[in-house]
Amino acid sequence: MKRLSMVEDQLQKSGIEDKRVLEAMREVPRHLFVPEDMRKHAYEPTPLPVGDKQTISQPYIVGLMSEALAIKPEDTILEIGTGSGYQAAIISLLAKTVHTIERHQSLYTKAKKILKGYKNVILHHSDGSLGLPSHAPFDGIIVTAAATHFPRALGEQLKESGRICIPIGGASWQELFLFRKFGRELKEYRLGSVLFVPLIGDYQRF
Ligand code: SAM
Repeated sequence: MKRLSMVEDQLQKSGIEDKRVLEAMREVPRHLFVPEDMRKHAYEPTPLPVGDKQTISQPYIVGLMSEALAIKPEDTILEIGTGSGYQAAIISLLAKTVHTIERHQSLYTKAKKILKGYKNVILHHSDGSLGLPSHAPFDGIIVTAAATHFPRALGEQLKESGRICIPIGGASWQELFLFRKFGRELKEYRLGSVLFVPLIGDYQRF
């Protein structure tokens, strides 16, 4: 089956080892999260368009970010950038609750439909660049759009020992970061270069 080969060839062979992440990616039907004319490409090692000039990330990046967050079954996770809803579906199998925010109305509406069976996913239609203070603090935050700089509000909405995975950079070059909170400090780890659509929102004013 294509999904099993995707996990073996694209994730395990590239060093993703977290058993729960691998199992979640074997389970979630990725082809249902992409437009019908893209379904034949759903399991290929590439991002795909999902409408509104936005993309679903390639499988390896979904696996890498999910593993980096070290999600525990009791965790509450915030995702910024719902897009197709695929990453939120994966996290829903790893965490207790997932809050996911999308700024595009049409993507939010589509994702709400497809994520209907994922009972622990709560969708929000707003600018997520300032986080979700009404539901903070979170055990983990995943940002699936590239920020020009670290959005300060997100650090404040993280529990002690929480994690944030976020791409930072410009239109042509970005780096994926993991930040771990120790007390009030954030320690940074670099996970490699990536290319995401931009995070657009009010965080740019701060
Ligand atoms: N996680 C998605 C998936 O599994 O399909 C992929 C996300 S796509 C690469 C980035 C998404 O971030 C886009 O849908 C875009 O509209 C959204 N986005 C950008 N800035 C945002 C913001 N400030 N708040 C919420 N969503 C935002």
